[in-house]
Amino acid sequence: MIVILLGPPGAGKGTQAAHIVEKCHIPQLSTGDMLRAAVAAGTPVGRQAKSVMDAGKLVSDEIVAAIVEERIEQDDCANGFLLDGFPRTLVQAETLDAMLEKKDRSLDAVIELRVDESVLIERLRTRIAQTQARGEEPRKDDNEETFKERLQVYRDQTAPLIPYYEKQGKLKVVDGMASIAAVSAEIDVILDGIGPE
Ligand code: AMP
Repeated sequence: MIVILLGPPGAGKGTQAAHIVEKCHIPQLSTGDMLRAAVAAGTPVGRQAKSVMDAGKLVSDEIVAAIVEERIEQDDCANGFLLDGFPRTLVQAETLDAMLEKKDRSLDAVIELRVDESVLIERLRTRIAQTQARGEEPRKDDNEETFKERLQVYRDQTAPLIPYYEKQGKLKVVDGMASIAAVSAEIDVILDGIGPE
């Protein structure tokens, strides 16, 4: 089962990704996590990506696509995987389609978490407060100014994926304004409608 989770920053992709991983026993491939790991490890990719990520902009399509291509070849992706934060541009979406076709695989569903933008800043504030309450440092790009940039990038570069996948008949829209449990339940219905790969 190959599934994409789509939605603006703060839509709840991370939370629902954890739910899907547990339900479907497929790995979560978060390009954001992979890039943050590269930054922390100080790899050449990490060094290139750091300032772009801190500014809330997008890392180049080539870099991200290469990371994903390498990752999906690993054994734990044999029965499928969940993409969280990728693709984020039309070029990435087309690259993914080509990548999967080459491997004789195909996307099962694109789950869009649809939310009103007005709640996103409030959710960000809550997330920062919760992180600090745990005694942890918030993500460098989790501040209001960078968040607004990430939101703008989403509108400009990622939202066009919605009609792209709609045309492919793959788009499933979920009401991301509902409670976490209700969103998970809606996602379950979608996933239960997809057979194993
Ligand atoms: P995320 O954790 O998904 O919010 O990603 C954090 C940051 O990593 C983003 O703001 C981008 O700078 C970078 N990033 C993650 N995924 C991608 C992607 N698919 N394309 C380009 N940049 C990405």
